[in-house]
Amino acid sequence: MIDQLYRKAVLTVAERPQVEKLARDKMWPLAQRFVAGEDIQSAISAVLELQKDGIQGNLDLLGEFIESPADCTAFADNVLKLIDAAHAAGIKPYVSVKLSSVGQGKDDGGTDLGLKNARRIIGKAKEYGGFVCLDMEDHPRTDITLEQFRVLVGEFGAEHVGTVLQSYLYRSLKDRESLDDLRPNIRMVKGAYLEPETVAYPDKADVDQNYRRLVYAHLKAGNYCNVATHDEKIIDDVKRFVLAHGISKDQFEFQMLYGIRRDLQKSLAAEGYRVRAYIPYGRDWYAYFSRRIAETPRNAMFVARGMLKG
Ligand SMILES: Cc1cc2nc3c(=O)[nH]c(=O)nc-3n(C[C@H](O)[C@H](O)[C@H](O)COP(=O)(O)OP(=O)(O)OC[C@H]3O[C@@H](n4cnc5c(N)ncnc54)[C@H](O)[C@@H]3O)c2cc1C
Repeated sequence: MIDQLYRKAVLTVAERPQVEKLARDKMWPLAQRFVAGEDIQSAISAVLELQKDGIQGNLDLLGEFIESPADCTAFADNVLKLIDAAHAAGIKPYVSVKLSSVGQGKDDGGTDLGLKNARRIIGKAKEYGGFVCLDMEDHPRTDITLEQFRVLVGEFGAEHVGTVLQSYLYRSLKDRESLDDLRPNIRMVKGAYLEPETVAYPDKADVDQNYRRLVYAHLKAGNYCNVATHDEKIIDDVKRFVLAHGISKDQFEFQMLYGIRRDLQKSLAAEGYRVRAYIPYGRDWYAYFSRRIAETPRNAMFVARGMLKG
């Protein structure tokens, strides 16, 4: 409950336009702990650097709630450029996309623009043997994202497109089960948005418990699971679970955010687990950065100290 109140307080303040304007100027040096840079080259360099420690990258061009259809398509064009650049740098493209940023819910001659742009992006990634994960956004988008995911897996195959389930939503266990026929590649997360109690567990203990249930059920069903968390207790439990159930290390991977728990990322990779860091980049970093601050008061202290320094 306290976690929810803290998150609500930070996100409510961060969403105020005056705060955003001030923060954008002052906070970029601090945001760089969580964001690889503003251009493609910085993102590619971050992947190559992490690969030296046996950690793979998951590239994310930042941008959400983009309004005009033309901007959505331009955003998708930039993701295509990113995929080409990764391939040219010898990296198998692995990208994450928020469907809202490429036009989800906007009509384009009878087709959903987000679906149309997602097809272009996944088609390009598939050309290079790559993968696209459809990020999960706030709960009004869950149904449409899962529906579009089903269509896209049908067209491109589960080896080239995956999506995300959030353990704070009451519905996620049922959603997971309903996708089983696709043998889907799913990233499990706790959930980063401000959600009402009508749809999401208000208590962290329930969110954590549901997280374990989701991961275990997905692995037991024989699917590929991206265990995306920095929660060491859960990571240890998952290690024990896979050992006890004879689940091989190539049926799952640990995923963490760029700049968070680098020590843990490295040590897991050194133990022979697959590890992937989610690497955001781009000029539209503010909302992403605000959510990271909202996740833990320690990050708010980090920002406060940085701002006091100058
Ligand atoms: C690879 C990846 C992809 C994601 N994709 C999505 C998505 O598509 N949709 C979505 O809603 N959410 C997404 N998230 C965010 C996720 O929902 C959580 O908000 C976030 O991961 C924090 O939860 P946690 O599992 O680490 O556990 P928590 O219980 O929040 O944290 C566990 C421990 O991790 C550390 N920690 C956690 N967050 C931070 C931080 N920001 N800074 C420093 N330390 C921290 C702290 O030590 C904390 O005690 C993603 C997360 C990851 C790792």
